[in-house]
Amino acid sequence: MQGMMMQRSLQISDILDYAAEAFPTAEIVSARTEGDIHRQTYGETRKRVAQLAHGLQRHGVKLGDRIATLAWNGYRHFELYYAISGIGAVCHTINPRLSAEQMIYIVNHAKDRMIFVDTTFVPILEALKDHFPEDMIYVVMTDRAHMPDTSLPGALCYEELLHGEPEEITWSEFDENTAAGLCYTSGTTGNPKGALYSHRSNVLHAMMIAVSLAGTFKEGNKVLPVVPLFHVNAWGLPYAGPLAGLTLVMPGPAMDGPSLFKLMDQEGVYSAWGVPTIWMGLLAEISAQGRKPNGFEDVVIGGSAAPRSMIEKFEKMDVSVGHAWGMTEMSPVGTHGMLPAHMDDWDMETRIDYKSKQGRRVFGVDLKIVDEDGNRMPHDGKAVGELFVRGNTVVSGYFENEEATAKALDAEGWFGTGDVASIDKNGFLTIQDRAKDLIKSGGEWISSIDLENAAMAHPAIANCAAIGVPHPRWDERPILVAVLAPGAEKPSIAEIREHLTEHFAKWQLPDDVVWLDVLPMTATGKVSKLNLRKELGDYVHPELRETA
Ligand code: AMP
Repeated sequence: MQGMMMQRSLQISDILDYAAEAFPTAEIVSARTEGDIHRQTYGETRKRVAQLAHGLQRHGVKLGDRIATLAWNGYRHFELYYAISGIGAVCHTINPRLSAEQMIYIVNHAKDRMIFVDTTFVPILEALKDHFPEDMIYVVMTDRAHMPDTSLPGALCYEELLHGEPEEITWSEFDENTAAGLCYTSGTTGNPKGALYSHRSNVLHAMMIAVSLAGTFKEGNKVLPVVPLFHVNAWGLPYAGPLAGLTLVMPGPAMDGPSLFKLMDQEGVYSAWGVPTIWMGLLAEISAQGRKPNGFEDVVIGGSAAPRSMIEKFEKMDVSVGHAWGMTEMSPVGTHGMLPAHMDDWDMETRIDYKSKQGRRVFGVDLKIVDEDGNRMPHDGKAVGELFVRGNTVVSGYFENEEATAKALDAEGWFGTGDVASIDKNGFLTIQDRAKDLIKSGGEWISSIDLENAAMAHPAIANCAAIGVPHPRWDERPILVAVLAPGAEKPSIAEIREHLTEHFAKWQLPDDVVWLDVLPMTATGKVSKLNLRKELGDYVHPELRETA
């Protein structure tokens, strides 16, 4: 028997309509590329989104067209999210840190018709424009007074596109499975692959995270997405934020520690979201100032593993850490580290141990770990296998990429994450590694993430990465590549091994340390082990050097 309930399609435009009506005082606060702080309510935003949608339609944008953005976090980028999807087109966010080759590939692969660009990134497009279709429409995201001199053909001005358009719009209704957003993974090998989100998946994702991360999503809370709007929907904040009545504080281009501290302090930011590298900068500033920013109580860390020492620092200043894990292919949130109530009275150290894991699944995401033959492994905290996921916010394939689509799902229809993990009986996920980054020594696996996390607690190490290097006897041996903390003296490998010895068996300890000034980063702010391996191309394991 079927239920007898209405079937209304889930549309992204409903989120903004609701926020404009329900939360008249919540705002989008943006540190602009123009240099000032800009504020507008969701009601004002709704009007500008309507104007932008009319402007897009005036330029012939229709259902299914791909419209690209190359922009920082700010209200105009937010408006594009809603106006583009509102008229049934697809908002294709481009990561400005991609290589020229990757950018050319994705703009052409996506068949983008228009590109909206922040003034900062205009030079990037000027250098690439000859590789894009001649009828591409470029819109610079500023007002007439700040329009740069540009060689982009026929460049339009964002504010002029909106000017004079009606502030009202009746959103047309379409199937909830209509594509709404497109984000390419920054793929370490081969061409980037596009995750194509739908209205349904983005609305469900917003509801899922607002419920599962309820502590953050309280009306009136000020939340700072440092995670860029150009990377997997800024982890869903542009949708879940207005849904819950949050004020979103957008940092614009300034994401260094002092700038973030100042903005958070001025605005009273309650929760900030971003990758561990960002928090290193903020923690350094907090230590320099001897205090945390006013109102700061909650931080969501994800994108790569949060070192235990970082979690400890935040927790000890009464900033609650939610360690989250997810992927571009998952919209992106899969798990989050808010501890369940029964752990409230656990001692600090045990709580931090749990927070160092990658958290528990959010409602709507299922997890399984499997062995090499695809057999399910127990969730006992010990068994380690490849992590697979399923749910309404997980991709079913890749945009216009049959080859990658064919490989994405297993026989049961679950998506293979490429991560290797364990899950304990409380449901806490521990990511051991990317499958390809695990270090295999003498037939045994060593987690590079575990080594990095423990090494990061050494006061002389500002940042580090553990990688496997070839070894004739053991196949691979771990080494540490590290950046020295400012003013610190270089510890010897013996000292570093001594520091790690408590947490690891002897054979798991790194054999060498290589000091670099900086670690190469990916476009999404993670250490790029691919480039690191390239950089260390002529590195030879110490034992081989001695025998050479
Ligand atoms: P991306 O699609 O670029 O966001 O990258 C997703 C990948 O980042 C995941 O498959 C993980 O390997 C890694 N990742 C994300 N969050 C975490 C985390 N909290 N701890 C460890 N790895 C993470």
